[in-house]
Amino acid sequence: MPTALAFGIEANYVHPADLDLPDAARCNALFDFDTVRNGYGWIFPKRDHFNVGIYRISKGDGASGLKGALARFAAAHPLLRRCRMTEAVGQPIPISTGTQPVGRGRVILIGDAAGLGEAFFGEGIAFALRSAAIAADWIGRTMRAGSAPDGARFGAELRPLMDELRYSLRIAQAMYRVPPAWMGRLGADGTIREALVMMLEGRSSYRSSFWRIARRIPFAIARRGGMAAAPSPFDQDAAGNEKGRGTV
Ligand SMILES: Cc1cc2nc3c(=O)[nH]c(=O)nc-3n(C[C@H](O)[C@H](O)[C@H](O)COP(=O)(O)OP(=O)(O)OC[C@H]3O[C@@H](n4cnc5c(N)ncnc54)[C@H](O)[C@@H]3O)c2cc1C
Repeated sequence: MPTALAFGIEANYVHPADLDLPDAARCNALFDFDTVRNGYGWIFPKRDHFNVGIYRISKGDGASGLKGALARFAAAHPLLRRCRMTEAVGQPIPISTGTQPVGRGRVILIGDAAGLGEAFFGEGIAFALRSAAIAADWIGRTMRAGSAPDGARFGAELRPLMDELRYSLRIAQAMYRVPPAWMGRLGADGTIREALVMMLEGRSSYRSSFWRIARRIPFAIARRGGMAAAPSPFDQDAAGNEKGRGTV
């Protein structure tokens, strides 16, 4: 199967000079899963701005509507309203199905060119670096052994990495199948939140996170009163009021 396609769009929201930020808004990254279907919105605090974006797996809709989704997402967070937005930029992110071809003849592919984005968060930097290191090591070993690298064999070298990515796709399939109205319950579930954070920080494999999340989803959805997700520092208005969302 070829790679699947996702899209990311992002913009920076530059602080006004007099912005008085709560500490939590300076330190906490926000992932909001009830913003778009098949994806999420993020707010990453930086020194003098917030990086704000939307990630969405394409279901035949490509990048259509993403700019509007970013504008609506930002408008829903009072802390961003006083910031100056820079131009939004977007790109496709090819996500791995775990089975896509990555080499032939004298050509091998790494990173996004090999379709090594992971499906749930749309992360690709770590996999681009890991695939580059694997490629350099493999080319060196092959040439020291006196052979010319054959691209058709490179897939075997990337197999462990692609197997890992296959679990990310399974996590995306499990999580993004949940209707948006129930996403808040997943965000409010401690086990799911911890599994996602550990995965993001590279402290657990996608494989082990998949099993933790897949087992937990039915309980999280069934739990009564579970709609209140983590309070978000970005949702505070001037009066300090907050609203619950499907946030991590
Ligand atoms: C909005 C957005 C936010 C993202 N956020 C994250 C994130 O927070 N964390 C994360 O892990 N991933 C993130 N990603 C995904 C990540 O950016 C990519 O997966 C990663 O950059 C892939 O690295 P790469 O080196 O394979 O490709 P690229 O970073 O695309 O690098 C390829 C380079 O090759 C150059 N190039 C292309 N064609 C030619 C040519 N013919 N000749 C010479 N040069 C050429 C390009 O200009 C480019 O500089 C995000 C993606 C998007 C769209």
